[in-house]
Amino acid sequence: MIQKILIANRGEIAIRVMRTCREMGIKTVAVYSDADRSSMHVRYADEAYHIGPSPSNESYLVIDKIIDVAKKSGADAIHPGYGFLSENAHFSDLCKKESIEFIGPDSYAIDTMGDKITARKTMIAAGVPVVPGTTEPILDEEKAIKVIHEIGLPVMIKASAGGGGKGMRLVKDKNEIVNAIRGARSEAQNAFGNDAVYIEKYIDSPHHIEFQILADKKGNAVHLFERECSVQRRHQKVVEETPSPLLTPEIRAEMGKHAVLAAQAVNYHGAGTIEFIMGDDLNYYFLEMNTRLQVEHPITESVVGVDLVRQQINIANGFDLEFKQEDLSQKGHAIECRIYAEDPDNNFMPSPGVIKHFREPLGLGIRHDGYVYSGYNIPLFYDPMISKLIVWAKSRDEAIKRMKGALYNYKITGIKTSIKFLERIMETPAFVEGKYNTHFIQENEKFLLTPKKASPQCEDMAMVATFITYLNQLEKNSIQSNARHTSSPWKEFGRKRNSIRL
Ligand code: ADP
Ligand code: ADP
Ligand code: MG
Repeated sequence: MIQKILIANRGEIAIRVMRTCREMGIKTVAVYSDADRSSMHVRYADEAYHIGPSPSNESYLVIDKIIDVAKKSGADAIHPGYGFLSENAHFSDLCKKESIEFIGPDSYAIDTMGDKITARKTMIAAGVPVVPGTTEPILDEEKAIKVIHEIGLPVMIKASAGGGGKGMRLVKDKNEIVNAIRGARSEAQNAFGNDAVYIEKYIDSPHHIEFQILADKKGNAVHLFERECSVQRRHQKVVEETPSPLLTPEIRAEMGKHAVLAAQAVNYHGAGTIEFIMGDDLNYYFLEMNTRLQVEHPITESVVGVDLVRQQINIANGFDLEFKQEDLSQKGHAIECRIYAEDPDNNFMPSPGVIKHFREPLGLGIRHDGYVYSGYNIPLFYDPMISKLIVWAKSRDEAIKRMKGALYNYKITGIKTSIKFLERIMETPAFVEGKYNTHFIQENEKFLLTPKKASPQCEDMAMVATFITYLNQLEKNSIQSNARHTSSPWKEFGRKRNSIRL
């Protein structure tokens, strides 16, 4: 039985994993770099160990250092979170060799799914529909042109080792083919050290719909329904929701079956995600599998009522799945917004720095997975995601309203964030109607990026102006010896402050 888990990650996901560990009575071990000395995950853990300088390739990505800490601290398992070492097959193997439980699948599943060309071949063999395209790397440009003629434009050139939206090129015109291949290959080489690319048909009006799966070590597998992740910027998710407004019960059931087949085809165990791309015609195709816990996993937890980290730990312990497919259902609606330290009105420039004031929203159906606090200095070295705001409500309409309210009550000053941008997404007709695809942000850019409300500086000034007006009024009132205040002046000032959105 796992008694102590090392969390080989930082930020919100490290804390999220530790929260479940605490519930389960499992001890936690944090690791941290120079930049993370004062990070919340370090304070939250039962023990914390320094593992090196700030750049992740000198700390969070150094396998030997992490294994060393696991041994030193007596941790019997490692949870990798997402990103960093979570999809590193060698790391999974090494943990096994050192008799440390890796909370994730075996290296075979990671390797097979980590290489998109191999994954495509494996899915075809398993009878899972894949996007029409090549199943071998493209080395020869002449041949590529011929293949593209057969598939028909537009196509996507994609890196086999790709991830995080990198190494991908959309080709609409035949004159762009050669440059796109060269561009994708060099980007893939730089980002992943592997320049193999392949060609995929571009799916028109694409919807990104993914399925959460859980599988135990005996081969039992279930799906926990879908997540609609079509609100994207540069192929990266911004808002996710479940259920998807697009799916019918029949297609949901069929996709779920394909997701389970996909996982079983690589002897998967643990939690994983099968990503599909779907056209307006509701035809869907396997895109890739993420062999780890996903950023947007909380919306599934809200709607299905299952703690995915607890399930990961139970599976790692060798327990059988505690439910069958027919035991699972979707209740209500959940939405997640990813809050970034960046400035949407200035080309999404990163905005690291010190958070002056931080207050997260609270209330029924609101979940906040974060790690920052007032006075925290957001380091430049890592992903600029500050937190995830998740709401649950009985219906989609209520969930959107709840999210709007929660974003409105979310206060971060000192740095720029994407909160206002997300608020505008919640008001955009295409989103409200549930009629959107991955072009949503681009198509609604004008509406989303034009600041409709006062800028933060204006808000500060407005606050000062209100305060002065209020003091003046107080003075006037006392001159008129109107001493009969029905409520405290501070309470009233507080209300005024709220009404101008401090
Ligand atoms: P999700 O589908 O969970 O949102 P993302 O693709 O956004 O996953 O990736 C989650 C995190 O992992 C991000 O911080 C991203 O930069 C990182 N990441 C994803 N793929 C890779 C990869 N191949 N190599 C390194 N980091 C990656
Ligand atoms: P990554 O590993 O970077 O997450 P994916 O293969 O999952 O790469 O693709 C990321 C996103 O790119 C998808 O969610 C979708 O928006 C877009 N995309 C990828 N392939 C296609 C395709 N064939 N047609 C249309 N859009 C695509
Ligand atoms: Mg993906």
